[in-house]
Amino acid sequence: MDCVQDIDVERARAETPGCARVTHLDNAGASLPPAVVTDTVIAHLRAEALRGGYRAAAEVAPRLDAVRASVATLLNADAADVALTDNATRGWQAVFYALPFGPGDRILTSRAEYASNAIAFLQVAERTGARVEVVEDDPSGQLDVEDLRRRMDERVRLIALTHVPTQGGLVNPAEEVGRIAESAGVPYLLDACQSAGQLDLDVERLRCDALSAPGRKYLRGPRGTGLLYVRPRLRERITPAVLDLHAATWTAPDRYEVEGTARMFETWERDVAAVLGLGAAVEYALAWGLPAVEARVVALAGRLRDALREVPGVGVHDQGVRRCGIVTFTVAGRPAAEVHGRLAETGINTSVSLSRYARYDLPARGLPDLVRASVHYYNTDEELHRLVEAVEELARR
Ligand SMILES: *Cc1c(COP(=O)(O)O)cnc(C)c1O
Repeated sequence: MDCVQDIDVERARAETPGCARVTHLDNAGASLPPAVVTDTVIAHLRAEALRGGYRAAAEVAPRLDAVRASVATLLNADAADVALTDNATRGWQAVFYALPFGPGDRILTSRAEYASNAIAFLQVAERTGARVEVVEDDPSGQLDVEDLRRRMDERVRLIALTHVPTQGGLVNPAEEVGRIAESAGVPYLLDACQSAGQLDLDVERLRCDALSAPGRKYLRGPRGTGLLYVRPRLRERITPAVLDLHAATWTAPDRYEVEGTARMFETWERDVAAVLGLGAAVEYALAWGLPAVEARVVALAGRLRDALREVPGVGVHDQGVRRCGIVTFTVAGRPAAEVHGRLAETGINTSVSLSRYARYDLPARGLPDLVRASVHYYNTDEELHRLVEAVEELARR
């Protein structure tokens, strides 16, 4: 990453109305959107109210198409390989539930895996006789690439990896996993929910067959939006578990043809205003440049971890060789929910990572619920200082 431009933080904050109101350290939950995103959504809602939803959509048809192109640029993908979804989970499920599994087939996943994904594995395992296996972590806490390599055989039908867990600052070695999956010819489904918008993603480097992400998290888009990338080689092998008249064409009374592009995983009806808002968010992120975003996020989070570690009674729990903007911690004698609530009272937004949502990970590490502070490039050292002071005060009492 040479020539990474510094982020103009003052401008970023001026363009983010919420920055004047809250210390927002819940960017892994839902970021504060820049004004351009909110304005884009509201303008389209007004157009729908005044001219009707279908006419309003027709008027913005080229801009709607451009949203896929923007997402493609973000991921270094082809626009034909991008689907727009209502959230990340629907996109992930669209691929996962399309994969064929039989008795004895193996699904390899990671300790970082998201609860919804794990539940889907269990349901499909129950239905088909496939087996779910959790690849071990290495001593650093990231997925153990050697353990994954040892587990590969002809019964492995899927490698599903969460790039960055919701419950920690770890960045899994997704590119190395991609090399293993590709050389074995095994579909590789990457959950990029927490990495999209904070890390510089490139599906060619990652070699993933599919990747899902929501709009509202680090991408700073509207709620109720998501994106899905599906590589042609995977689309050639599977058909969606569900189809509608947008994902397929009814070509004769007894025939239909499945859409060739990644739109095969979409449905016809959509929140057009939100999709336009997602497009604005992606363009806004691209204008800052993802390498610049990543550099600032990683640096801020690193400083926050260092400062929290200095506080007596505070434990910082992020793992891995490479770390990102998510910072998780505990305060001795204070449940995470209480810390989260107290911080909210002082105008600091954080969230709680529930242990029961991370069953492959937090209980195995003997950890309870964690407080999660997730930073973005528009956060300042002053805001981090405010958080650390508030935590110090709680730890002291
Ligand atoms: C938030 C999240 C999801 C789910 O995304 P939705 O948009 O809520 O469906 C999946 N995986 C990870 C790692 C997440 O953080």
